[in-house]
Amino acid sequence: MTELDAQARIRSVLDDAVGTPAEFDTPIMREAAQAVRVRNTDGDNTFPRPVHRRVITIANQKGGVGKTTSTVNLSVALAMHGLRVLVIDLDPQGNASTGLGVEHSSGTPSIYEVLVDALPIEEAAVPVEQAPNLWCVPATIDLAGAEIELVSVVAREHRLRRAIAAYGNDVDYILVDCPPSLGLLTVNALVAGDEVLIPIQCEYYALEGLGQLLNNIDLIRSHLNHGLLVSTILLTMYDGRTKLADQVAQEVRNHFGELVLDVVIPRSVRVSEAPGYGQSVMTYDPGSRGALTYYEAARELADRGTRMQPVPPRESV
Ligand code: ADP
Ligand code: MG
Repeated sequence: MTELDAQARIRSVLDDAVGTPAEFDTPIMREAAQAVRVRNTDGDNTFPRPVHRRVITIANQKGGVGKTTSTVNLSVALAMHGLRVLVIDLDPQGNASTGLGVEHSSGTPSIYEVLVDALPIEEAAVPVEQAPNLWCVPATIDLAGAEIELVSVVAREHRLRRAIAAYGNDVDYILVDCPPSLGLLTVNALVAGDEVLIPIQCEYYALEGLGQLLNNIDLIRSHLNHGLLVSTILLTMYDGRTKLADQVAQEVRNHFGELVLDVVIPRSVRVSEAPGYGQSVMTYDPGSRGALTYYEAARELADRGTRMQPVPPRESV
């Protein structure tokens, strides 16, 4: 057995240990499971199309809270269930591109050229093999310079919004994965989006910095994108062994109410292993708790998409 095999086996044993029912039998997880059971009685496996194309920006300036993991798994889940999805990787680290198994070495047509050289999205988007009707605009390391290069570009905050407005492909969802900062790239994503999805990690410092993010979103709303709203909060990396996870989850629910999806994404080794294989957990281990909960999150997201207001005015910029 190679060292890698051994590591993988140890991890999988640990993962199973973490997943014993007793440890996940907490009020938070019971409530989530109950809500999920109620919804799943219809047995239809196709997700409904949204009232209009949804441009959802996945943002949280904290690193490591599950932005990329959520972008990758939600997009694959939505696409696997009949919806047409475009992922825009807006992080120079290119983690979403990696997780979707998309080429993103320096020089590959990418979001950098879209933002800086006004390359049409169609010319940078590539099909993702993991699911039908899923495309990704990759991010290469070239994007690292974009924060600075964009400063002198015309309408620098509106570059992504304009590119999306000109995108002719009839997709149902566009998910934009943000870098862990509140710089010009994230501003572009917030100006481009109709909605913000904020992943919140069920851990101690999770709420720190959230106020700053919400203030920034308010600023963008008043100055650059009047239609922007925080539509969705997703609790991620829930660890049933710590009381703290429950407290954080409860606090977030008290504060954000309906915005918080019922389902909670547990911490699971399978989820973190998948990108190493250029895959989402949806394809890497479809039966795992990580995959099942991301499936549920995608389903909730899609259900909410049917109860939205008709097409919001997209003022020209
Ligand atoms: P962000 O994009 O916000 O920086 P990531 O999605 O990259 O965060 O997640 C940070 C790290 O945590 C990654 O290594 C990822 O694989 C891991 N991770 C994310 N979600 C989970 C989860 N539910 N269980 C276990 N590990 C996770
Ligand atoms: Mg990321």
